[in-house]
Amino acid sequence: MSFGPGKLYPNHRHIIKRHSTGITKYLEGQIEWNNTQLAPLKHSLRILLRTQQQGRCVYCRRKISIERRNTAEDIEHYLDKSKEKYRKWAFSPVNLAIACHPCNMQKSTKDMGDETISLALGLTAGAGEFRWIHPYFDDYFENIEIIESWIYIIKANAPKANRAKNMIIDCKLDQIQTIEAGKKIVLDRIGKAQLLALKCFESNRSRSKKLLEYAQILTKEGWKHI
Ligand SMILES: [Zn+2]
Repeated sequence: MSFGPGKLYPNHRHIIKRHSTGITKYLEGQIEWNNTQLAPLKHSLRILLRTQQQGRCVYCRRKISIERRNTAEDIEHYLDKSKEKYRKWAFSPVNLAIACHPCNMQKSTKDMGDETISLALGLTAGAGEFRWIHPYFDDYFENIEIIESWIYIIKANAPKANRAKNMIIDCKLDQIQTIEAGKKIVLDRIGKAQLLALKCFESNRSRSKKLLEYAQILTKEGWKHI
Protein backbone atom coordinates (compact mmCIF):
# COMPACT_ATOMS: atom_id res chain seq x y z
CA MET A 1 0.00 0.00 0.00
CA SER A 2 1.25 3.45 -0.87
CA PHE A 3 1.22 6.29 1.60
CA GLY A 4 1.62 8.86 -1.18
CA PRO A 5 4.81 10.16 -2.77
CA GLY A 6 7.97 10.50 -0.65
CA LYS A 7 8.59 13.94 -2.08
CA LEU A 8 6.30 16.48 -3.74
CA TYR A 9 7.03 18.32 -6.98
CA PRO A 10 5.85 21.88 -7.68
CA ASN A 11 3.59 20.89 -10.59
CA HIS A 12 1.25 23.77 -9.72
CA ARG A 13 3.62 26.58 -10.74
CA HIS A 14 1.54 27.40 -13.84
CA ILE A 15 -1.64 27.87 -11.78
CA ILE A 16 0.11 30.27 -9.44
CA LYS A 17 1.46 32.28 -12.40
CA ARG A 18 -2.04 32.51 -13.88
CA HIS A 19 -3.37 34.15 -10.70
CA SER A 20 -0.58 36.67 -10.23
CA THR A 21 -2.95 39.67 -9.87
CA GLY A 22 -4.63 38.32 -6.73
CA ILE A 23 -1.30 37.13 -5.36
CA THR A 24 0.29 40.56 -5.79
CA LYS A 25 -2.64 42.12 -3.94
CA TYR A 26 -2.19 39.60 -1.12
CA LEU A 27 1.56 40.14 -0.92
CA GLU A 28 1.08 43.91 -0.82
CA GLY A 29 -1.38 43.50 2.04
CA GLN A 30 -4.42 44.77 0.10
CA ILE A 31 -6.36 41.53 0.59
CA GLU A 32 -6.17 38.71 3.12
CA TRP A 33 -5.92 34.92 2.63
CA ASN A 34 -9.68 34.36 2.95
CA ASN A 35 -10.58 37.01 0.34
CA THR A 36 -12.92 35.59 -2.34
CA GLN A 37 -10.58 36.82 -5.09
CA LEU A 38 -8.21 34.02 -4.08
CA ALA A 39 -10.91 31.32 -4.00
CA PRO A 40 -10.48 30.04 -7.60
CA LEU A 41 -6.71 29.79 -7.13
CA LYS A 42 -7.08 27.92 -3.85
CA HIS A 43 -9.62 25.57 -5.42
CA SER A 44 -7.26 24.72 -8.29
CA LEU A 45 -4.36 24.25 -5.90
CA ARG A 46 -6.39 21.86 -3.75
CA ILE A 47 -7.31 19.69 -6.71
CA LEU A 48 -3.73 19.42 -8.01
CA LEU A 49 -2.17 18.83 -4.62
CA ARG A 50 -4.84 16.32 -3.63
CA THR A 51 -4.11 14.31 -6.79
CA GLN A 52 -0.36 14.40 -6.29
CA GLN A 53 -0.68 13.49 -2.60
CA GLN A 54 -3.13 10.68 -3.44
CA GLY A 55 -5.67 12.21 -1.06
CA ARG A 56 -3.30 11.86 1.89
CA CYS A 57 -2.09 14.35 4.48
CA VAL A 58 1.47 15.48 3.85
CA TYR A 59 2.47 14.88 7.49
CA CYS A 60 0.61 11.84 8.90
CA ARG A 61 -0.05 10.27 5.46
CA ARG A 62 -3.55 9.20 6.47
CA LYS A 63 -6.39 9.53 3.95
CA ILE A 64 -8.29 12.78 4.26
CA SER A 65 -11.98 11.93 4.38
CA ILE A 66 -13.76 12.68 1.12
CA GLU A 67 -17.14 13.76 2.44
CA ARG A 68 -15.76 16.59 4.53
CA ARG A 69 -12.92 17.59 2.26
CA ASN A 70 -13.56 21.29 2.19
CA THR A 71 -13.50 21.48 5.95
CA ALA A 72 -11.09 18.63 6.76
CA GLU A 73 -8.48 19.40 4.15
CA ASP A 74 -6.38 22.47 4.74
CA ILE A 75 -4.03 24.18 2.32
CA GLU A 76 -0.96 23.99 4.39
CA HIS A 77 1.89 26.47 4.38
CA TYR A 78 4.98 24.69 5.57
CA LEU A 79 6.39 28.06 6.61
CA ASP A 80 3.48 29.73 8.37
CA LYS A 81 2.03 32.53 6.23
CA SER A 82 0.76 34.37 9.32
CA LYS A 83 4.36 35.12 10.29
CA GLU A 84 5.30 38.38 8.63
CA LYS A 85 8.77 37.08 7.75
CA TYR A 86 7.24 34.21 5.69
CA ARG A 87 4.36 36.10 4.08
CA LYS A 88 6.49 36.53 0.93
CA TRP A 89 6.30 32.73 0.46
CA ALA A 90 2.55 32.37 0.96
CA PHE A 91 2.26 31.35 -2.70
CA SER A 92 5.66 29.83 -3.23
CA PRO A 93 4.92 26.45 -4.86
CA VAL A 94 7.37 24.65 -2.56
CA ASN A 95 5.63 26.03 0.51
CA LEU A 96 2.21 24.54 -0.28
CA ALA A 97 0.72 21.14 0.48
CA ILE A 98 -2.48 19.57 1.74
CA ALA A 99 -2.70 18.56 5.39
CA CYS A 100 -5.44 17.01 7.47
CA HIS A 101 -7.12 19.14 10.07
CA PRO A 102 -5.64 17.34 13.13
CA CYS A 103 -2.06 17.77 11.83
CA ASN A 104 -2.68 21.38 10.94
CA MET A 105 -4.03 21.98 14.44
CA GLN A 106 -0.94 20.42 16.02
CA LYS A 107 1.38 22.39 13.77
CA SER A 108 -0.56 25.58 14.41
CA THR A 109 1.87 28.52 14.18
CA LYS A 110 5.04 26.57 15.07
CA ASP A 111 8.05 28.00 13.32
CA MET A 112 9.35 25.45 10.82
CA GLY A 113 12.48 27.41 10.00
CA ASP A 114 15.56 28.68 11.79
CA GLU A 115 16.50 32.34 11.93
CA THR A 116 18.46 32.25 8.65
CA ILE A 117 15.64 31.06 6.38
CA SER A 118 13.61 34.26 6.20
CA LEU A 119 16.75 36.09 5.06
CA ALA A 120 17.31 33.75 2.11
CA LEU A 121 16.66 35.06 -1.39
CA GLY A 122 14.58 32.07 -2.40
CA LEU A 123 12.93 29.14 -0.67
CA THR A 124 15.36 26.30 -1.36
CA ALA A 125 16.59 23.16 0.36
CA GLY A 126 19.71 25.01 1.50
CA ALA A 127 17.92 28.15 2.73
CA GLY A 128 18.45 27.11 6.35
CA GLU A 129 17.51 24.41 8.84
CA PHE A 130 13.92 23.16 8.81
CA ARG A 131 12.17 21.73 11.87
CA TRP A 132 10.10 18.96 10.22
CA ILE A 133 10.55 16.81 7.13
CA HIS A 134 10.10 19.24 4.24
CA PRO A 135 7.42 18.14 1.73
CA TYR A 136 9.53 19.17 -1.31
CA PHE A 137 13.13 19.06 -0.14
CA ASP A 138 13.18 15.84 1.92
CA ASP A 139 12.00 12.35 1.11
CA TYR A 140 9.47 11.26 3.74
CA PHE A 141 10.16 7.56 3.37
CA GLU A 142 13.94 7.90 3.49
CA ASN A 143 13.33 9.18 6.99
CA ILE A 144 10.13 7.63 8.33
CA GLU A 145 8.61 4.19 7.99
CA ILE A 146 4.94 3.65 8.74
CA ILE A 147 4.26 0.13 9.90
CA GLU A 148 1.08 -1.77 10.77
CA SER A 149 -1.60 0.07 12.73
CA TRP A 150 0.01 3.46 12.17
CA ILE A 151 3.25 3.19 14.02
CA TYR A 152 5.80 5.78 12.90
CA ILE A 153 9.44 4.75 13.02
CA ILE A 154 12.50 6.87 12.28
CA LYS A 155 14.52 4.92 9.75
CA ALA A 156 18.02 3.71 10.51
CA ASN A 157 20.47 6.10 8.83
CA ALA A 158 17.67 8.60 8.14
CA PRO A 159 19.38 11.63 6.54
CA LYS A 160 17.02 13.98 8.39
CA ALA A 161 16.46 11.97 11.60
CA ASN A 162 16.10 15.09 13.70
CA ARG A 163 13.39 16.55 11.47
CA ALA A 164 11.59 13.19 11.51
CA LYS A 165 11.75 13.07 15.31
CA ASN A 166 10.47 16.63 15.72
CA MET A 167 7.59 15.96 13.34
CA ILE A 168 6.50 12.73 15.07
CA ILE A 169 6.57 14.38 18.50
CA ASP A 170 5.16 17.83 17.61
CA CYS A 171 2.41 16.41 15.42
CA LYS A 172 1.59 13.69 17.99
CA LEU A 173 1.86 11.01 15.31
CA ASP A 174 2.90 8.57 18.04
CA GLN A 175 -0.63 8.83 19.50
CA ILE A 176 -2.40 7.59 16.37
CA GLN A 177 -1.45 3.98 17.12
CA THR A 178 -3.30 4.18 20.47
CA ILE A 179 -6.47 5.30 18.70
CA GLU A 180 -6.08 2.57 16.09
CA ALA A 181 -5.47 -0.07 18.79
CA GLY A 182 -8.79 0.94 20.38
CA LYS A 183 -10.58 0.46 17.06
CA LYS A 184 -9.02 -2.98 16.63
CA ILE A 185 -10.23 -4.09 20.08
CA VAL A 186 -13.82 -3.18 19.16
CA LEU A 187 -13.56 -4.95 15.79
CA ASP A 188 -12.14 -8.06 17.49
CA ARG A 189 -15.05 -8.09 19.96
CA ILE A 190 -17.57 -7.86 17.12
CA GLY A 191 -15.86 -10.72 15.29
CA LYS A 192 -15.77 -12.92 18.41
CA ALA A 193 -19.47 -12.31 19.22
CA GLN A 194 -20.47 -13.17 15.65
CA LEU A 195 -18.39 -16.34 15.68
CA LEU A 196 -19.89 -17.49 18.99
CA ALA A 197 -23.39 -16.72 17.70
CA LEU A 198 -22.71 -18.90 14.69
CA LYS A 199 -21.39 -21.74 16.85
CA CYS A 200 -24.45 -21.90 19.08
CA PHE A 201 -26.97 -21.09 16.36
CA GLU A 202 -28.41 -24.64 16.36
CA SER A 203 -27.99 -25.57 20.02
CA ASN A 204 -28.98 -22.34 21.73
CA ARG A 205 -31.00 -19.97 19.57
CA SER A 206 -31.70 -17.42 22.30
CA ARG A 207 -27.99 -17.11 23.19
CA SER A 208 -27.13 -16.83 19.52
CA LYS A 209 -29.68 -14.03 19.14
CA LYS A 210 -28.31 -12.18 22.17
CA LEU A 211 -24.75 -12.43 20.83
CA LEU A 212 -25.82 -11.06 17.46
CA GLU A 213 -27.62 -8.20 19.18
CA TYR A 214 -24.46 -7.46 21.18
CA ALA A 215 -22.40 -7.47 17.94
CA GLN A 216 -24.91 -5.08 16.40
CA ILE A 217 -24.68 -2.68 19.33
CA LEU A 218 -20.89 -2.74 19.12
CA THR A 219 -21.03 -2.08 15.38
CA LYS A 220 -23.33 0.88 15.93
CA GLU A 221 -21.90 2.30 19.12
CA GLY A 222 -18.41 0.83 19.47
CA TRP A 223 -16.91 4.09 18.26
CA LYS A 224 -18.04 5.72 21.49
CA HIS A 225 -15.55 3.56 23.36
CA ILE A 226 -12.58 4.44 21.16
ZN1 LIG B 1 -2.32 14.54 9.00
